[in-house]
Amino acid sequence: MSTFVLQIRDLDESGRDWNFAIGTDWLASALADTELTAGAEDGRLTVHAQRNGMDVLVQGHIEAQVGATCARCLADVSLDVDLALTALFSPEHTRPEGSDEIDVQLDEVNRDYYSGSEVVLDPMVRELLLLEAPMKPLCSEGCEGIAVPEHLRPPEEVFGDSAPDARLAPLLKLKEELTKNEE
Ligand SMILES: [Zn+2]
Repeated sequence: MSTFVLQIRDLDESGRDWNFAIGTDWLASALADTELTAGAEDGRLTVHAQRNGMDVLVQGHIEAQVGATCARCLADVSLDVDLALTALFSPEHTRPEGSDEIDVQLDEVNRDYYSGSEVVLDPMVRELLLLEAPMKPLCSEGCEGIAVPEHLRPPEEVFGDSAPDARLAPLLKLKEELTKNEE
């Protein structure tokens, strides 16, 4: 079910404003197949839409809270997303063949298509949220990752340079012999 729906009949060239709540239940279902989760509070989608011939220009703002997992320590991270939405919706029959995937970019005029008498913003809002969320969210810039408990740490000498690598032993021996021959 679509939630962010603009009725074409409500639009004219001067445009109209909409104000939607981005409910946590909407976020939860929109983000169900992703690494993000719904935040604790509802977000907001404000939109100004105007009609230009058969096209509908939508300019808006998305504010939402989403949950993610810290890429280093796996702690829960709450992300505040705040981004602009600019999109031009054209009638479905003008869609170029083979472009049924929605392709969305941040800070660009995005293109999508509407069919019937409604412009549905849900897929675009979802794509923008996914684009805006960092690939590797961190709980803090200085996150040091998961602390390895003492008894699970490898012994010092594995990484220390006190002893030569056992794999180098044959080479060292060869070097020794070569040096001997030179004398
Ligand atoms: Zn962390």
